Amino acid sequence: MDPQPQPEQVKYICGGCGEEVTLKPNEKVQCRHCDYSILFKKRTRRIVEFLAR
Ligand SMILES: [Zn+2]
Repeated sequence: MDPQPQPEQVKYICGGCGEEVTLKPNEKVQCRHCDYSILFKKRTRRIVEFLAR
């Protein structure tokens, strides 16, 4: 548990290639390594689906 909020970057694990991907809150959820759009949040391990707007 981090006592300090860290809103700048969130780490994800790519569901496609398994690489670690660091995203900023406003960035599109997409792996930079393989362009996969489903990433697992590293802390919760819950799936994060790409939100099309
Ligand atoms: Zn990937």
